[in-house]
Amino acid sequence: MKNIQIPKQKTIALVAHDNRKDELLRWLDQNIDAFKGHKLVGTGTTSSLIRERYSTEISSFLSGPMGGDQQLGAAIAQNEIDLLFFFWDPLEAQPHDPDVKALLRIAVLYDIPVAQSVSGANFLIHSDYWNNEFTKYIADPKESLEDRVEEYSKKL
Ligand code: PGA
Repeated sequence: MKNIQIPKQKTIALVAHDNRKDELLRWLDQNIDAFKGHKLVGTGTTSSLIRERYSTEISSFLSGPMGGDQQLGAAIAQNEIDLLFFFWDPLEAQPHDPDVKALLRIAVLYDIPVAQSVSGANFLIHSDYWNNEFTKYIADPKESLEDRVEEYSKKL
């Protein structure tokens, strides 16, 4: 296992599927101030809407269906993302459903707190950890790679 120290100033990713962009933006209308002091990133359309609406700095990945979810997943695997707001659509299939599943999977693997709806989002911003450090413990990817190499070299 490996300790990862999450700093006070977090890198927060925001993503909303088309049918849930309204919900995320309406929630942000009430809560955007909570994000001040943190670094924001997001998938293409979601991040552009946030940048325009709140004149806030936010970095953009590609749009989700064009590979943005995969870019975000890769950033999580490199410990570059601390928290994820992912308002995904529970009622409609997406062209990039495999990427959506992959993003949720990698978020769990790297133990990223994820808000998937308004209640979860409220819990996150009201957590004691929101503006404080916290430590998480994840499986060390380097160790797991070494174990796998050792295991497979024995079989060769
Ligand atoms: P979008 O992507 O922000 O570019 O709409 C979101 C997604 O579908 O994952």
